[in-house]
Amino acid sequence: MKARNSMSVDEQYQIHLQQLKHKEPGFVETIYALGNGHLGVRASNPLQGNSPAYPGSPGLFINGFYDLTPITYGEAYFGYARNNQTICELPDPRYLIFSVDGVRSDETPYQIEMIDKTWDMASGLLLETFHVTTPTAKEFTLTLESFASQAERHLYVIRYDIRTLNFSGSVTVIKQHAYVNQQIARDNTDMRRAQRGNTLLQTYLPAAAPTMRISTQKSQLSLLMTMQYLGSDPRVQLNAHADVPNYEIQLQLTPERSAQFSFGYSLGEIHNQLSFEVNQARYIEKSLARLAGESFSSLFAASAARTRQFWQDSDVIIEGDPILQKGIRFNLYHLYQAAGRDHSTDIPAKGLTGAGYEGHYFWDTEMYMLPFFIYTQPQIAKALLGYRYATLAEAGQRAREMAIKSGVLFPWRTINGEEASAYFPAGTAQIHINADIAYATDQYIRATADTDFLVSAGFELILETARFWLAYGNYADHGPQAGHFVINRVTGPDEYTALIDNNYYTNRMAQHNLRLAVKYAAELKQLAPDKLAELAVTDAELAAFKKAAANMYLPYDARHQIKLQDDNALNRPRFDLKNEPATNFPLLLHYHPLVLYRYQVNKQADTLMSDFLFPLDQDEAQLRRDYDYYEGITTHDSSLSRAIFSILANRIHDPDKAQAYFLDTALTDLTDLQGNSEDGIHAANMGGSWLSLIYGFAGMHYGTDGLTFAPQLPAGWFRLSFKIKYRGRQIDIDINQKTATFNLLSGAPLTLYCGPEACDLSQKMPVTVDIKHA
Ligand code: BGC
Repeated sequence: MKARNSMSVDEQYQIHLQQLKHKEPGFVETIYALGNGHLGVRASNPLQGNSPAYPGSPGLFINGFYDLTPITYGEAYFGYARNNQTICELPDPRYLIFSVDGVRSDETPYQIEMIDKTWDMASGLLLETFHVTTPTAKEFTLTLESFASQAERHLYVIRYDIRTLNFSGSVTVIKQHAYVNQQIARDNTDMRRAQRGNTLLQTYLPAAAPTMRISTQKSQLSLLMTMQYLGSDPRVQLNAHADVPNYEIQLQLTPERSAQFSFGYSLGEIHNQLSFEVNQARYIEKSLARLAGESFSSLFAASAARTRQFWQDSDVIIEGDPILQKGIRFNLYHLYQAAGRDHSTDIPAKGLTGAGYEGHYFWDTEMYMLPFFIYTQPQIAKALLGYRYATLAEAGQRAREMAIKSGVLFPWRTINGEEASAYFPAGTAQIHINADIAYATDQYIRATADTDFLVSAGFELILETARFWLAYGNYADHGPQAGHFVINRVTGPDEYTALIDNNYYTNRMAQHNLRLAVKYAAELKQLAPDKLAELAVTDAELAAFKKAAANMYLPYDARHQIKLQDDNALNRPRFDLKNEPATNFPLLLHYHPLVLYRYQVNKQADTLMSDFLFPLDQDEAQLRRDYDYYEGITTHDSSLSRAIFSILANRIHDPDKAQAYFLDTALTDLTDLQGNSEDGIHAANMGGSWLSLIYGFAGMHYGTDGLTFAPQLPAGWFRLSFKIKYRGRQIDIDINQKTATFNLLSGAPLTLYCGPEACDLSQKMPVTVDIKHA
């Protein structure tokens, strides 16, 4: 089929500087940040290093590499989170120093202007051009090509090209690790930003290339960073024994002859300091070996091949709106770059592109990002759930600390598995995180049929979270709740309403969590009865789960016929959103929390999140009432909100709203919609844009019969096409205004549903169905 988007295919995968909303350094650094789940590098000014004389905030982040600082409370109560965990900003691998006419760029700032940046997401290559003017008015062009290897997650590779413009003469280039002695919080008035700095210990180790050990002070972690010149140009001199080991390159340049140099960085695993010391020599050897005999081209070829495979499985094609098409690819590639793949790291809320939210992991992963991975890169989804499993012991300890006798309580925000939220009403109180993890585990198992994971980790995640609910909630004996299982004093996803009783979302999710435990226990009775014994599951316990689920209190207002966010939701006055000046949003930066808590005002989808996740719970009329009511009180101050509103607008057949909300979701970072992309991408929102397409416009959900689609494209789109992996199969789904075609690319035959119509799929026999518009 002929592409109907006017740009060329290559172009559709490219992000050009000229197309960005603005060129503020911090924003641009985030947009073009490169990563591979282990490392992330902001696209900073390469001359900046640690010098405050240049604008911008460079950063190299390693997923899971964080330090601790004690949280100081005015009044510290029992059980409050004790330590901040903050992702560390490490030496910028893009950094280099010039010396021209005896003036060094790290001592006297050079003028450096960003001329162009093109990120080719099809291959993962970032190409940048800077115009540099020395204090002695010598001008040259500095071109950078760089990528984070998708084939070898420890590697980041960069090639510099230097071409003089108005002079012929000598230029010295020095390449060394930029010493970063402090991570400095720039602004303490926005709690979403990194609030604190860490002092890292950086030591150069004797080795055949500049090699640095970076250690944290309190978390007792170390990692190794080596830098190697990739090539054989004799002008590149290694000073391995200098105080600051470096490469020095003396060049004689003319405008006709540019010089090119490539460097590879190897960024090791995170080790505790003791084991680092014992194994140091081996780590250095391993780190240097990763780049031995390699060149920029060989490393790039391997990485690009992986990236192409990513697109093979995960691309989404939208025809009819080239900007959206690009925006979606931008989101998907950033998600890929952000996701930890080693079973001991997760996805920070800002990916590995910035220190916003201190680099913490939230429910964002399970509820917004995991579906994309489950259906297109299931091995990554498994690794992400593996991270939760790896922190089960910490979650158990936390439950005990919270006086819960059985089960686990996962932290609201964390890196190392311990609770790091200093503000418990909008942090720890969001215990729905437990059920979110259980929900996501079930989604993974349903979509992959990975029974090994169910037995080795999944069931335990579901069981231990279910145990928590039984211990946390209770049977009420008063008022309308009498006889029901209630869950009091919690905060739902909406952070503008805190410490409430019977949050609809939390209760519905807990009910599901309990039922999942019962369901999978029954499966394990056949599959792995020993596992049940090992985890001390008894019939009495399962009966108690069943009973609590059956009696779960789900608040409902009979007069308005809406699901209630909590027991007391309608007794609060409505916040006058219409007359609130636009400059007062997000409200959290302008009102004390207690002011917001007294009103009906929502930061993001809350009860509607339940409507989204459980499509069979309500008919369309109920959904419409819920939607209309909650839309009226929602500010969308969180970037997690609009995607859900877009999906549900599709379900109530309001295509204009679906499209409007989707547009904002899809382009949040590219257009800096929230005004804070400089702190890092909004990763959950990016996952939300995939949800909006697949669960919204394609209408994918589990219907009564099985996997079901209910497609409806916005006016103006010609085509929406994507692939999903499902229980050992890969299915291509191609939707236009009139029809939907399902093509089983690999795996055994299966029946899925398009609306009420059953589609029996077998390989190479695509089935096309007419779309019936409601
Ligand atoms: C949202 C949370 C989210 C967090 C991290 C907050 O603004 O309210 O739901 O988990 O950001 O993205």
